[in-house]
Amino acid sequence: MNKPSSLYIHIPFCETICDYCDFAKLQYFRMFAVKYLKALKQEIDSYNIEELKTIYVGGGTPTALENDLFLELLEIIKPYTKGVQEYTFEANPESLSEEKIKLLSKYGVNRISLGVQSTDEKVLKAINRQHSYEDVKRAIATLNRYKIDNINVDLILGLPHSSETLLRRDLENLTSLNIKHISCYALTIHPHTVLYNQGFKEMDDDLMRKNYDIVHNFLKEKGFIHYEVSNWCKPNYESLHNLTYWKNEQYYGCGLGAAGYIDDTRYKNTINLDKYLNGEFIVEEEKLTKKDLATYEIMLTLRSIKAGLSLSLIKDKYGVDLSKKSDEIKTLINQGYLTLERDTLFTTYEGMMILDQIILKLI
Ligand code: SF4
Repeated sequence: MNKPSSLYIHIPFCETICDYCDFAKLQYFRMFAVKYLKALKQEIDSYNIEELKTIYVGGGTPTALENDLFLELLEIIKPYTKGVQEYTFEANPESLSEEKIKLLSKYGVNRISLGVQSTDEKVLKAINRQHSYEDVKRAIATLNRYKIDNINVDLILGLPHSSETLLRRDLENLTSLNIKHISCYALTIHPHTVLYNQGFKEMDDDLMRKNYDIVHNFLKEKGFIHYEVSNWCKPNYESLHNLTYWKNEQYYGCGLGAAGYIDDTRYKNTINLDKYLNGEFIVEEEKLTKKDLATYEIMLTLRSIKAGLSLSLIKDKYGVDLSKKSDEIKTLINQGYLTLERDTLFTTYEGMMILDQIILKLI
């Protein structure tokens, strides 16, 4: 069994908590962060990781750590960075100081994912984000000065006060900056979040589809490629780390609430900080059967136009013969939801909009 070549590391701390957030996150307290880094080092080192292709440090907010702890985190990861092609850190614009950018550059980080969500002050205030569009511009300019130009920005559709005009302004603002990648997600309202308690509702499907079309057409005109349901990039700037997930390849997952996939087993770490600090990392493990593995492969590879679902590969790897579904596949191709190139199925833009239904027809 090949060892994973990707590593995800979760830093759960945030300076403040956003009103829509359902991730594994905690208010930043130095005392906990110090203990957390010790446990994290123990967990990462326990995997005997050899060669990695990608490292992704997400959260939470990794840049919420104070400078000395931020440096400690980079030192913990350093032994695993040799030969890594893509090394990403998530950051919030307001906590990405020049000091931290200097450290990121020194330690070989070559990709940044910035949590922007909106460029409008009123919207940002309504979801308790602490940055402004000016902070975003400043952070990107400083990153560029330190020669980090592979930058993703996250955008959320359907936030409070959102409108078509604001969405177009967000897209204008963001594409006027030197960014290579945009991840665009529809707002989901999760129970126990502030927006849920305020009774805020998700955008209806028709309006969301309209928003998606605006994003898609706008970014296409600006030279971005739609390469996964929620992701657009300039040519050759696909996220290598995320492609690991979409190609159904294995990865280590370390940190509170992180998920991993090793030796045909998917695992999930605890979200209980006490347990994590005590070294009780994994709480759930699922050894996948061949059928499960094939289902994951179909679900994940169809998400990405870069990966695609190879009919011969899925037969060789798992014995799943999709030629039995040739009528369904032909219909989906004729309806414009799938294309077939040699023996690989790719989802079209229209197909991305009904991906769940396509997957159900194939599994
Ligand atoms: S910064 Fe990210 S992880 Fe932290 S509260 Fe906001 S959305 Fe959640």
